[in-house]
Amino acid sequence: MHRYTVINLLNILFTLQIYIQFYYKPNLIHLISQPPVYNQPEQIEEQLEESLALDVSLLSIEPQSDKKDLSFQPLSSTSTSTTNSEEEECEMHWKQKKWIVNEPNVMELFKRCQECGSVITKTAKATVGSVLRVHWECEKKHKGKWSSCSDVRGMPANNLLVSACTLFTGATYTDIADWATLLNLQIPHKTTYFDIQSSYLIPVIDEEYKEQQKAAMNDLHLQTELCNPVHLSGDGRSDRQVNVVIFIFLTIFKKIFLTSFVLVVLLALDFSAKYNTYSFMDDTTDKIVHFELVQVTEASSSVAMEPVGFKRAVNTIQEQGIKIDVLTTDRSPSIRKIMRVEYPNIHHEFDIWHVVKGLSKKLCSMSRYKDNRELQPWTRSICNHLWYCSATCGGDPDELIENWKSILYHITGVHSWFKEGKQKKCVHNDLSPEQQRRKKWLGKDSRAFHTLQSLVLDKGLEKDLRQMALFKHTGQLEVFQP
Ligand SMILES: [Zn+2]
Ligand SMILES: [Zn+2]
Repeated sequence: MHRYTVINLLNILFTLQIYIQFYYKPNLIHLISQPPVYNQPEQIEEQLEESLALDVSLLSIEPQSDKKDLSFQPLSSTSTSTTNSEEEECEMHWKQKKWIVNEPNVMELFKRCQECGSVITKTAKATVGSVLRVHWECEKKHKGKWSSCSDVRGMPANNLLVSACTLFTGATYTDIADWATLLNLQIPHKTTYFDIQSSYLIPVIDEEYKEQQKAAMNDLHLQTELCNPVHLSGDGRSDRQVNVVIFIFLTIFKKIFLTSFVLVVLLALDFSAKYNTYSFMDDTTDKIVHFELVQVTEASSSVAMEPVGFKRAVNTIQEQGIKIDVLTTDRSPSIRKIMRVEYPNIHHEFDIWHVVKGLSKKLCSMSRYKDNRELQPWTRSICNHLWYCSATCGGDPDELIENWKSILYHITGVHSWFKEGKQKKCVHNDLSPEQQRRKKWLGKDSRAFHTLQSLVLDKGLEKDLRQMALFKHTGQLEVFQP
């Protein structure tokens, strides 16, 4: 997710500027019609407390009266020169360097009149979120006003940018607000932040995403037309935080009885997950081409959400005229069945990452038994071996399976052997007598070896390995969490 966001952050920020200028006219009406904040008498220094309250309801967004809308003059699409200069101005706000400046240091600048040089007798400060405005008057009655940043159509540019940068970096408002409070740095109030988020940022992300998705789909469509194989990876994710947190909490306190009781209650209430997102990534470009969000009410149970999202996503992609050649997923039984029954023409691969993770868990739990302790130092090497076999088999499942099974020779200290009249050997370099002597090989008759043997030669695993020869892994997809 982060990589995807960072790559597209600049695009999104730029689209945001364009969007605010052209598309979001209903709100622009309010933005433009709002009187500048510094004209409002309640914002002067004497009533600074009120000015803080004003931050809460972003003046620029909340209209005070509808009749002001009449003053709005929509942008004429023919005035391209204005458009370009406005675009440039918006880009300028964003590119300008920003500094953390202390208030007393700013106020030092308001000692002498900029027109006549005489002493400034009155100053008043006003704040709008992240922006400081200063009004001054000299003894000869010259007046002036200064603002720490300029406005984008009535909204202080930095309020928009603080909100945008918070959301676009994946942070929450609370994270940024805590940091800012500790520093006593002025940022927009929570309400303002969420107003800006829902009025501008979310629609912009939505629009930018749709545009990029369209481009990604067009690329895949072109690949289909050129008869280039399309390889996609898919993975689902549910919102299980609530019960996981409760479970961890209870486990820590070793309330085993209570834990199982709560779990049963949670399952009974179907409290486990309300949403599931199934996402598809293009293996060549690592771009998310599509995702489906399924609500629990759309499926028979929370577990059934994933297959619903999966099917819906595959159908949507196919409806775009894209021929999927290879689809990689985890080994979930429901997805396997759907692939076998409904999409027999798509080659179904299994994600090596999920399989190795499962194998590692199994080995860890088995090696806890006294008889299998000797397996412990080997767990990592065995998992690496599976990964290596998939990566180097060149798409040949037979070679993958044969190499995988060779672990049973190596682990007993045998590095060359005969099979069906042919000499076979391990791929590693020859071991020195010292290396051979020091390694803790398993005895062929040991319990640990037999345990491993039953795991390595497992018929179910062998069958699955046939769908792992293309060395597909969805690790990239794991970091994407819509
Ligand atoms: Zn003056
Ligand atoms: Zn070996």
